[in-house]
Amino acid sequence: MSKINKKKLMKNLPSYIRFAIQLCFFLVLPSAFTGAFSGVKYIFTSLGEGTVLEATSFVTVLITLCVFTVVFGRFFCGFACAFGSLGDWVYAIGQFVQKKLKKRLPAIPVRVRKALDWVKYVVLVLIAGLCFLGVYGDLSGSSPWDVFSMFTALSFHLDGYAVGIVLLALILVGMVFQERFFCRFICPMGAVFSLLPMLPLFSLFRSRENCIRGCNACGNKCPADLSLPDDGGEAVASRCFQCQKCTGICPKSNVHTGIKIIRGNEWWWMLVRGVILLACCKLLAGM
Ligand code: SF4
Ligand code: SF4
Ligand code: SF4
Repeated sequence: MSKINKKKLMKNLPSYIRFAIQLCFFLVLPSAFTGAFSGVKYIFTSLGEGTVLEATSFVTVLITLCVFTVVFGRFFCGFACAFGSLGDWVYAIGQFVQKKLKKRLPAIPVRVRKALDWVKYVVLVLIAGLCFLGVYGDLSGSSPWDVFSMFTALSFHLDGYAVGIVLLALILVGMVFQERFFCRFICPMGAVFSLLPMLPLFSLFRSRENCIRGCNACGNKCPADLSLPDDGGEAVASRCFQCQKCTGICPKSNVHTGIKIIRGNEWWWMLVRGVILLACCKLLAGM
């Protein structure tokens, strides 16, 4: 292999490993996202009915993912959620096609993106309210993630799911226009994660004093429009999808986790977190 190809391979290795981990979780645990969100819906339905909360399998999945996220940040979102991975792949295909056609779709302006960030909390409150009132079940055919779950389970009994199918199609279109469209603007489970108090251990920071003057490559690459804090600044963990794009793009290898010697996209560190998450889901949540 030529020196240039080897250098390119090493540079892209973290992206390949991330893709491999995403694919594994997509095939092995495609229902983790819907399982955890069913836990949220169950909790609000029980509160509305005034019944005692039980440790159902959905609640166990929810608790497992939340505890993992508090410790490791949103690694689940960046590497293991089937819906998040779908969004990454749809966006990547969209980018590839646009490059080939030499045509660019219009981007959603940053100001609008920042305003849309709040929509996911509205979606969460709406669904929680409907569950609390005991009427969410009447709208089951309108859930795009239920439709997605049926697809991943290779179940195509979609009678009564017309609204859910249309919403899923619209979400897929949004995924072409904006990276992490669903995660960032709509996902109620993402809203739950972003409300969790997370340990700053594995949040990302940059050593500003080493930055190239005028550079903002990490900020420009971030699908959440995050500006990485300097060392010791306020952590962005709850809003960060742990996609590792900022780490990969930095020409100075200047982005690192709260534990400075770990950059976040080392192959072994990705695998360690993937294995811990898989073990938690299999052993604790029985998935
Ligand atoms: S924000 Fe939602 S859809 Fe996106 S990766 Fe996280 S749980 Fe999955
Ligand atoms: S680019 Fe960096 S800061 Fe932005 S979401 Fe991805 S990992 Fe988080
Ligand atoms: S990409 Fe690297 S050098 Fe550029 S601003 Fe971000 S951390 Fe600094």
